[in-house]
Amino acid sequence: MAKRQEQEDASTEVTEVAKDVLRMQLPISMPGLGHVNCYALIDGDGAAVVDPGLPTPRSYAALEDRLKQAGLSVANIHTVLVTHSHADHFGGATRIVRESGARLVAHRAFSFGGAPPEPEVSVDDLHAHHHSAAEEDPGTFGERPPIDVQATARGWTGKTPWGGERPKPPLKMRIRWRAMRLLGKAMSFPPVSHPVVQGDVLRLAGREWFVLHTPGHTNDHFCLHNAEDGMFLAGDHVLPTITPHISGLSLERDPLAAFFDSLDRAAALPHVDLALPAHGHPFADLASRCEAIKQHHDERLEKVKRIARELGPATVQAFSEKLFRKRSWGAMAESETYAHLEHIRLLGDAERRSNTKGQFVYEM
Ligand SMILES: [Zn+2]
Ligand SMILES: [Zn+2]
Repeated sequence: MAKRQEQEDASTEVTEVAKDVLRMQLPISMPGLGHVNCYALIDGDGAAVVDPGLPTPRSYAALEDRLKQAGLSVANIHTVLVTHSHADHFGGATRIVRESGARLVAHRAFSFGGAPPEPEVSVDDLHAHHHSAAEEDPGTFGERPPIDVQATARGWTGKTPWGGERPKPPLKMRIRWRAMRLLGKAMSFPPVSHPVVQGDVLRLAGREWFVLHTPGHTNDHFCLHNAEDGMFLAGDHVLPTITPHISGLSLERDPLAAFFDSLDRAAALPHVDLALPAHGHPFADLASRCEAIKQHHDERLEKVKRIARELGPATVQAFSEKLFRKRSWGAMAESETYAHLEHIRLLGDAERRSNTKGQFVYEM
């Protein structure tokens, strides 16, 4: 199968996707993804950058290279925007803020390192093609230590709400992160100097951008809309061909409902000609892509209901093992399954109880 565009390796080319808006691709090594788009928004004072990549020397060197091509350096960055709390989006922020004194913009709900590690893309899309080593090991979270080690470690123990094991990175990586902590090299994250909420307006690249809070992929995700030129900075909320991971371990009561609502609000924006995703190429028709992602989840919800008829009362793990192919089985698949089961239950179409092992059992 051909590579999805989100899985292409980071190109070194810098493209001006609109006047004073540059797309700079930074390398990432995460299952199902090959690059992250860092957008530079240029104005008379320098540049704002959106989602400056992983906290790795390789990513930082790539950022410096792309800025140089545009006649800029890190010292010119006056603002760092982080669309949500995933390491390939916020990782580069620490060093930029330290070196340039840039203000840091994130949603007011932004939480750094508090959640267990999650994949970026849906479990299905982790297996969309076969080319990387990560592919062979669907449980990995990328080769880099993405987030605060101690906070992450809390996410490695204990049970999930549905009675399964929490998502756990492979032993090799846990050992490496532990070693990093012992060496005192675990990264820290600067305070968000400029928290934003729905409806705030930011002036970037000589334009006004409205903040759209888009919970779903994470509860702190936000997008930016510029009505005048019809631009939409989409983060991971809407990707061109891949479905973002929707975790059942979200702070949202019904993360799927939150995601649907966020997709509807993005689709309803007037006059979007250019959607700028965090992975993959810019695209034109935001509303149809939102609709297609909703349809994917609707189909999955129907499949869950068919499985319920086939299995009768069943655990999240049992649903998950019917819903996904064997290579995807595990905590991540269960987390996505749980999000769908809870959505059905909260709509009143399923009953939930606990069995003697403390596992949730769903019946429809
Ligand atoms: Zn993400
Ligand atoms: Zn991402």
